[in-house]
Amino acid sequence: MKVLVAVKRVVDYNVKVRVKADGSDVDVANVKMSMNPFDEIAVEEAVRLKEAGKASEIVVVSMGVKQCEETLRTALAMGADRAILVETDTELQPLAVAKLLKAVADKEQPQLVIVGKQAIDDDANQTGQMAAALLGWAQGTFASKVDIAAETVDVIREIDGGLETVKLRLPAVVTSDLRLNEPRFIKLPNIMAAKKKPLDKTSPADLGVDVTPRLKTLKVAEPAKRSAGIKVANAAELVAKLKNDAKVL
Ligand code: AMP
Repeated sequence: MKVLVAVKRVVDYNVKVRVKADGSDVDVANVKMSMNPFDEIAVEEAVRLKEAGKASEIVVVSMGVKQCEETLRTALAMGADRAILVETDTELQPLAVAKLLKAVADKEQPQLVIVGKQAIDDDANQTGQMAAALLGWAQGTFASKVDIAAETVDVIREIDGGLETVKLRLPAVVTSDLRLNEPRFIKLPNIMAAKKKPLDKTSPADLGVDVTPRLKTLKVAEPAKRSAGIKVANAAELVAKLKNDAKVL
């Protein structure tokens, strides 16, 4: 079974992002970039499926600028077999990524596509769902457990107030949630070995996909600063403050 995993290059989750002075976007100049954390989980799951003898090949794909190659190399170091970069300088929105993912899936014919539940930069949570719709495949979103059989996959989904188990017919799209697994630490020999693994390049034009943005960002702003808190001496003072100052009682 071939597994296709989508990995996005995003601002590292430890970076405190700043908004550009003109409010047009987040400033990503000279900022550490990494693989989207949910995509690390997606790659880890694919590698575990291969280690368990349930997957035969793992192909990772990233869409975006040339530097996405680094993200793909990280995925190869985790255990993916080969990588595809769909190179473009155009800003990619989820629908464009979903169309590209469909085009790659049409070529590669995987049985399973795993993407992150959401990218931590745009927080869209749309790509997996839209890719499944475009492919006409079943989808198991927010997966915290994936159990593959010959023609089906059982997915335990994290939903409000509990867990839902769905059985999907393969081929299917799964989106990884936080509790699906804990990605492995990458060892140096694997980083070296990853440099020799195949990385093919293509472009939206080669895949026949129009990636022109459909949405226009009007404004990006930092969250409003919170005012400092105060300490109260006792419960009576707290109640008085809630009544008279905060006016919530
Ligand atoms: P989003 O819908 O933007 O929140 O992204 C959900 C998931 O889609 C991510 O976790 C990735 O697995 C995948 N994805 C989104 N954008 C890209 C991209 N440019 N390249 C590769 N995968 C992507």
